[in-house]
Amino acid sequence: MSAFHGANPQLIVFSGAGLSAESGLATFRGAHGLWEDMPLEKVCNYSTWEENFDAVHAFYDARRIAAAGAKPNPGHLAVAEWQKRWPGRVYVITQNVDRLLERAGCHPVIHLHGDVLLMHCVDCDFEWEIAPAAYDHAGCPRCRKKKTVKPGVVFFGQAAPHYEVLYELAANLRTADTAVVVGTSGAVLPADQIFGRSRAFSFLVNLEPGSEMDEAAFSACCYGSAGKILPTLTEMIGHRMENPSQN
Ligand code: NAD
Ligand code: ZN
Repeated sequence: MSAFHGANPQLIVFSGAGLSAESGLATFRGAHGLWEDMPLEKVCNYSTWEENFDAVHAFYDARRIAAAGAKPNPGHLAVAEWQKRWPGRVYVITQNVDRLLERAGCHPVIHLHGDVLLMHCVDCDFEWEIAPAAYDHAGCPRCRKKKTVKPGVVFFGQAAPHYEVLYELAANLRTADTAVVVGTSGAVLPADQIFGRSRAFSFLVNLEPGSEMDEAAFSACCYGSAGKILPTLTEMIGHRMENPSQN
């Protein structure tokens, strides 16, 4: 997707695991985060995943089953409403792997870290979608190998090709534009540097202060749950999207 700018203001929504917390999906960090129970370095690391093959698939089977059983919350629905209200002017870019944004009606969604319904063969590079259930370990449909099949989620140490899109979008932001950063600790991608220091008016929406980011870099910080806060931003975003001369 290119980041060409039309005459009208644009909105970028950049989300992390916290957006889906109210849908019952655990985040990585924070209270009850997945990191409390499972060393993520073991199940999300590109240099060790093959030696931890069974643990990796068991971990992502659980994520896939949980995502399939979850429902979009009012935070996802607010983002979908914005995207429908301003066609072609709202970029939704996510670190989430659960597809809840799509299920709320968002389209398109740029996935920076892949998605739990995809599988990827690291040998022949084939990618395919599986059912929202545990992986059946049938192997790669193209080359038939079994031990080369990895969840289609970007692991630590693995290339993330869509990061370029993220940086291009952020670099093209103008003062009339708005960026909403929601539910991310900033530990993987420094949203404070990317959006807080962009030309856009930037909102951070996180459960509480104290992420790994320089929160003072954002134009405004709103603390509380994404499902409560995002719908309340609709009016202000609408004003910025529809009255650019006043931004
Ligand atoms: P993270 O777990 O590092 O941080 C989550 C952030 O969300 C924290 O700052 C926390 O305070 C905030 N938060 C928690 N509940 C919230 C709520 N109800 N409303 C608003 N904010 C809330 O997540 P991250 O920054 O996205 O980075 C880690 C990686 O986690 C990503 O690469 C992503 O792929 C992966 N992940 C995805 C999911 C998912 O798709 N649902 C779940 C777990 C992890
Ligand atoms: Zn293959």
